[in-house]
Amino acid sequence: MPREIIHLACTECKNKNYTTTKNKRLHPDRVVYKKYCKFCKKHTDHKEVR
Ligand SMILES: [Zn+2]
Repeated sequence: MPREIIHLACTECKNKNYTTTKNKRLHPDRVVYKKYCKFCKKHTDHKEVR
């Protein structure tokens, strides 16, 4: 199974706060996770970046 390492960047401050893996076959589109951003000091949407 091709699990790819992706980075999750805060959509507000653009910092890459998280690294995760994702199965491209199950999630071919860009994923967005609601996660805590230590720079914004709140939960924001984190978008997949490469
Ligand atoms: Zn942020």
